Amino acid sequence: MTFRNAFAALLLLVAAVPAEAQLRVFTCEPEWTALVRALVPDAAVTTATSHLQDPHYIEARPSLIAAVRRADIAICTGASLEAGWLPMLLQRASNPDIQRGRAGLFFAADHAKLHAPHDHVDRSMGDVHPEGNPHVHLSPNQLPEIAGALAKRLGEIEPEMAAAIQSRYIRWRGDWNSLRAEWRARAVALQGQSLVVQHSNFGYLLRWLGVEMAADLEPKPGLPPGASHLSQLLANPDLEDASAILIASYQDPQPAQWLAEQTGLPVVVVPGTVTGKAPTETLGGLISEIIRQVELAVSGAPNGSV
Ligand SMILES: [Zn+2]
Repeated sequence: MTFRNAFAALLLLVAAVPAEAQLRVFTCEPEWTALVRALVPDAAVTTATSHLQDPHYIEARPSLIAAVRRADIAICTGASLEAGWLPMLLQRASNPDIQRGRAGLFFAADHAKLHAPHDHVDRSMGDVHPEGNPHVHLSPNQLPEIAGALAKRLGEIEPEMAAAIQSRYIRWRGDWNSLRAEWRARAVALQGQSLVVQHSNFGYLLRWLGVEMAADLEPKPGLPPGASHLSQLLANPDLEDASAILIASYQDPQPAQWLAEQTGLPVVVVPGTVTGKAPTETLGGLISEIIRQVELAVSGAPNGSV
């Protein structure tokens, strides 16, 4: 075959690939992008937020509106986590498939048992989210349920991919179960430890590990730590039992650092969700890393994360 003929044959091959082969996905937070990548590795995904952003508060910017408009499915946390920006995004995108009640809008929290209903308030005050703590992506027990529901939904949207998605889910779940057994073993040494936290980001994971939350730097869920609340915290007798202060990398470290100076407690900063880099680029890797950082902090070793 001459070069020219080979080139013509190649062009024909390219033209034969259907244009709609790639699933277009919009996600509100990077944890759902990680999950989609495990189930549909070649999906084209646009993620609205990064681990360096507070997912409660972002702008419905034009590039995100455009991404929702062309997406086949949007995957978000729900339970009012995105109440401040997602409704406007969906309205402006006006994608008929991505609306409440349609298969094209998937909320992870709809497939989870949320902790502490009425306990989640956003920064503008007033908005009490009755559904409970939405930060469910770090729940070792609930994530497989969410992933299973997502696999089913993706299979409904792309029936010809359903069998492949289901088999990837089964493999993902096997890997998750092995990791969870490892975390369970490591949790034994963490039982009864106590941490100061900021917001309920890590609540599901800490509770699962048997780690207490001695105090919260936030005066109320979603309210920034203020001077008067911090000085009250100093007098809180539960602080005596705490072995570290745990915050997420998107949060302002100053309140934690102030309390660290007053108390001598170490500050542990970990990503609140997956990042683009190993070892925290998957949800399993992220949980392993958070546990490792907590282990280091409670054992009194320098963790180098401040
Ligand atoms: Zn929150």
